[in-house]
Amino acid sequence: MKYFIQIYGCQMNYADAERVSGVLESLGYDKTSKESEADLVVFVACAVRESAVNRLYGNGKKFKRYRLHNPNFKAVLTGCVVKKDREKLEKIFDIIIDIKNINELPEKLGIKNTDNEKSLDYFQIKPEHESPFTAYVPIMTGCNNFCSYCIVPYTRGREYSRPAQEVLNEITELVRKGYKEIILLGQNVNSYRPDETTDFPALLGKINEIEGDFWVRFLTSHPKDMSIRLIESVKSLPKCANHIHLALQSGNDEILEKMNRKYTKEHFLGLVKNIREAIPDIMLTTDIIVGFPGETEKQFLETGKLMRLAKFDIAYINQYSPRAGTASFEMPDDVSAGEKKQREKALNDLLRETALENNKRYMGRKIEVLIEKENEKYYFGKTRSFKDIKIRKGEIDTCAIGKFTKAQVTKVTPWALEGTLVE
Ligand code: SF4
Repeated sequence: MKYFIQIYGCQMNYADAERVSGVLESLGYDKTSKESEADLVVFVACAVRESAVNRLYGNGKKFKRYRLHNPNFKAVLTGCVVKKDREKLEKIFDIIIDIKNINELPEKLGIKNTDNEKSLDYFQIKPEHESPFTAYVPIMTGCNNFCSYCIVPYTRGREYSRPAQEVLNEITELVRKGYKEIILLGQNVNSYRPDETTDFPALLGKINEIEGDFWVRFLTSHPKDMSIRLIESVKSLPKCANHIHLALQSGNDEILEKMNRKYTKEHFLGLVKNIREAIPDIMLTTDIIVGFPGETEKQFLETGKLMRLAKFDIAYINQYSPRAGTASFEMPDDVSAGEKKQREKALNDLLRETALENNKRYMGRKIEVLIEKENEKYYFGKTRSFKDIKIRKGEIDTCAIGKFTKAQVTKVTPWALEGTLVE
């Protein structure tokens, strides 16, 4: 039996997919890259946006066709799905299952499971990682923040922090297998607190003690919970990559309040100042929403002003779209589609300037690179600060995929670096 996985969403959904693969492969399923030849198609989806739900629903006709050709065919949906959408989606999916109950998938598929497998919860399932050198390691699930536009607290429930020892065991095993990049995942890693004495900086400290040659990075941090201790950890722990993702969302205090973000623009700028002073080489990335209900031109311009001051390297800029079931759904979506598009473009133009300015500091420097793939002319990799870099191949140069190497930067663009091999 073959399975195919389709992922719509964020890194958390990718991590979910690796655990779904873990369950299916333990049952003897083989992964295929061709959806049409699969007996089981699993969608790991983010239903954070209403448009994502419509996109999922759009697969109905295709599934009907698969069922005609293959009587064993089944379509499964998991990830971030709210109850309200289930009724609609149940018309096309055979099985809809909460990701936290993914250990019950064998039962839903009518496959007899052992008692041992039944007892495994989401975190204990052995993931099948997509990459042989980069691994997502979820450290918590859920969110307690209830930002007014976000459905995640309703799809993933309240925050739960995974025991530190379990996280450490998983990473130790990955490093033993040769993994070079560990990405810790949580909706708000800053509120990680599995017990009275452990918080996120303490966890990072323990991860840093694991023997081996690897980087650790994390996603994502809520500005209201970002602490000086965490900034110090990123600065001082040798295995901690110099990358911080800090979601701004808006540079206007009234909009931030309407978003229920619980910080002000001054607080955010104070954090950026502390981070940049402590770690001048930091890669700072963010998320921004344009066209939130009631966002005036003047309020939008404040976001641009803050972006100029923060000098982000990457910003994921999204046009606001109302999501049923969230608090902001009740607010009038009164910024026109055309205006949202223009605001998104204006911020992207600005970002291009700050990102290029930031990248110029890499010119001529020798930096560590994790090689990810290659073609005839180039190796492609990531720097410790999460910058994309391509390295022109020389006549005798070789380096291995999934290993660290050193490169000298010879060219920069807003979104990437280019260089030559040093070793
Ligand atoms: S912090 Fe806010 S935006 Fe992030 S997952 Fe929680 S509710 Fe959603």
